[in-house]
Amino acid sequence: MTPKSTNVTWFDGYLTRREREVLHGHKGAVIWFTGLSASGKSTIAHYLEKMLHERKCSTYSFDGDNVRHGLCRDLGFCPEDRRENIRRIGEMVRLFVDAGIIAITAFISPYKADRGVVRKLVGEERFFEVYVQCPVEVCAIRDPKGLYQRAMAGVIKDFTGVSAPYEPPENPALVIRSDAVTPVEAAEEVIEVLNRARVISD
Ligand code: ADP
Repeated sequence: MTPKSTNVTWFDGYLTRREREVLHGHKGAVIWFTGLSASGKSTIAHYLEKMLHERKCSTYSFDGDNVRHGLCRDLGFCPEDRRENIRRIGEMVRLFVDAGIIAITAFISPYKADRGVVRKLVGEERFFEVYVQCPVEVCAIRDPKGLYQRAMAGVIKDFTGVSAPYEPPENPALVIRSDAVTPVEAAEEVIEVLNRARVISD
């Protein structure tokens, strides 16, 4: 989409991403967790951030509910709003990657096409899609916020996995079975992926 405003020109600045990355000691990247509500995205994301921080990496975590308090407070959960929600987040994480930071996101992001938009924005080699796979029955038992209970009672509409679809990734960088591994083990698996891709180094 072309910008609504006219007379706007992109300014590149005097520092490159590479120069910022050298300062950080690692590459900028996005770890994009996707999966059902209560599959464990936020829990694993926060362990991962802590572990990367201990390795002196510059990180920042984005959480679904937090973004909906500010940047995306005008958006709901219908497909169009979900698409716009992910698009805005995509633009935001792109800036973080440009800053040389490892951005970690924990959004359900149920639509393949929307995740594809972010992948394209950020660039294939810096976008790490991590599918947190967990049976919906297990998520509904965990139900840390009582959302499944309310969705099953029909109080919450358009709830992913209950009354709205979830499209699993076809070719993620990693699949985590959160009903089979601990959050720490899951975070270690992500670190291994980042090591192999030379985003970070030992
Ligand atoms: P999401 O961000 O996907 O909505 P949360 O991380 O907020 O999910 O909630 C997941 C819940 O499941 C938490 O209460 C967490 O403690 C629990 N849980 C149990 N086992 C795991 C696991 N192996 N990985 C991640 N979370 C787990």
